[in-house]
Amino acid sequence: MGANMKRAFLDVKRQAHSYRPIEERIRDFNEVEVPPAPDVLKIQAERCMDCGIPFCHGCGCPLENQIPEINAAVAAGRLADAWDLLASTSNFPEFTSRVCPALCEASCTAGQHLDPVTIRQIERYTVDAAFEQGLVKIRRVTKRSGKSVAVVGAGPAGLAAADILNQHGHKVTVFERDRFPGGLLRYGIPDFKLDKGVIERRIKLLEAEGVVFETGVNIGIDISCDYLKRKFDAIVIATGTRAPRDLNVPGRELKGILPATVFLAKQNRLVSGEDSGEHPFTAKGKKVLVIGGGDTGSDCVGTSIRQGAKSVTQIEIMPKPPETRSVNTPWPAWPYMLRTSSSHLEGCDRRWNISTKAFQGKNGSVQRVCCTEIEWELSPQGKPLKFTEKGEPFELEADLVLLAMGFTGIPKEDPYPAQLGLNLERNLIKAGCDGITDVSGVFAAGDVKSGPSLVVRAIASGAKVAQSVNAFLNKK
Ligand SMILES: Cc1cc2nc3c(=O)[nH]c(=O)nc-3n(C[C@H](O)[C@H](O)[C@H](O)COP(=O)(O)OP(=O)(O)OC[C@H]3O[C@@H](n4cnc5c(N)ncnc54)[C@H](O)[C@@H]3O)c2cc1C
Repeated sequence: MGANMKRAFLDVKRQAHSYRPIEERIRDFNEVEVPPAPDVLKIQAERCMDCGIPFCHGCGCPLENQIPEINAAVAAGRLADAWDLLASTSNFPEFTSRVCPALCEASCTAGQHLDPVTIRQIERYTVDAAFEQGLVKIRRVTKRSGKSVAVVGAGPAGLAAADILNQHGHKVTVFERDRFPGGLLRYGIPDFKLDKGVIERRIKLLEAEGVVFETGVNIGIDISCDYLKRKFDAIVIATGTRAPRDLNVPGRELKGILPATVFLAKQNRLVSGEDSGEHPFTAKGKKVLVIGGGDTGSDCVGTSIRQGAKSVTQIEIMPKPPETRSVNTPWPAWPYMLRTSSSHLEGCDRRWNISTKAFQGKNGSVQRVCCTEIEWELSPQGKPLKFTEKGEPFELEADLVLLAMGFTGIPKEDPYPAQLGLNLERNLIKAGCDGITDVSGVFAAGDVKSGPSLVVRAIASGAKVAQSVNAFLNKK
């Protein structure tokens, strides 16, 4: 590390990404983020303090990316070294560098008193430049183990497990219910956050390396789990948690009220050309109400705006988080604080402490939502405990209501857990952190094991479970 670099965190200000102008970006579904120029990022990488204990690596990043070493390599212009370091722990940095909330940056030591290093953008530069410069090569598997693995679900967890098991020499087949692989990367996260060409590029690589994809196959229905047990030496279940939480209040049966994922998946299919025609629930000219203040809700906001909504309101039952890191989540923890996405900046009214009581409509279609304001009783640590209603009920006009209130686990109608004899816990597959379930040879990874979370955690889970599967197969 050069002498000038040691002080860079004091002398150089953080320069993160920008966004395309709002007027331009709301007219298309292209990625909104504009990464800093490579020269800027090299200087930004010099801001890394190379601190004694890299919390970003050990505490922040679930993949344990070697962040200080990557930063040093980027700062020194050693792209090939940066790429080798990144690829040694991360299967798909091209996904995380676009959609990760950057847990690493929240635990960056520089962030204690100054602004954290722009770790996610440095990751994005490393992987994008590595692809552009031909450093990402097909890793041919020269020695096969003679063992086979069925991975059920082609989301980030299943893809990570498939990648690693294939590199260990096992013959991997990924079964996916949807028409194309990617899971929520493809059918949940909008294109304006993650261009689907980035997924295609990775799937082609995995195929070239020997991973087989069987898409449009619903395991448990199109193919029984008995068949999987007979044909494969191990099974990895990475099916996600797509049962959406519903809001069973009067009027729920009205037309124009639907789960966020149905709305978002259809738009992604239209953008990719998988489907054609009009969006059946288009927000065009409508007053949209998004119920749920999280990331999925924010994606509904951005999608509705691009479809030409008349207005977009997002309501949340929880209290408004503080503008800065809450004292209850001190560094290096992931901070509880208000997050404003690029979609929110495009024009949306956000309200908190609101409970939905009923939907009302005319001729079978929703027209308004009846709400009340609520007040939370907080624990001494600031955790919301229970709420009471306050003030007069009020109405919000809405002719499209998108329910973005999280997920409840495995859809009840899915037969595969019972066919495999798996035990469930909180409507998820019961398994240890190593992914080992109660049924020998069957493993679980990602959201279906731990509950709805993040892409980076799904990849880390898939990678960890792959090691358990490999150990199991080597003993077999
Ligand atoms: C709208 C939305 C936006 C999000 N945005 C972000 C974000 O910006 N950043 C972030 O980090 N995280 C985000 N997340 C969360 C993230 O996408 C998930 O945590 C992650 O995709 C989980 O990965 P997974 O592989 O466990 O499951 P999934 O991605 O859900 O993949 C599971 C796959 O299994 C398939 N499957 C299910 N059952 C069967 C069966 N019986 N047979 C065959 N295949 C089956 C499904 O079709 C699916 O393709 C978002 C989630 C949503 C819903």
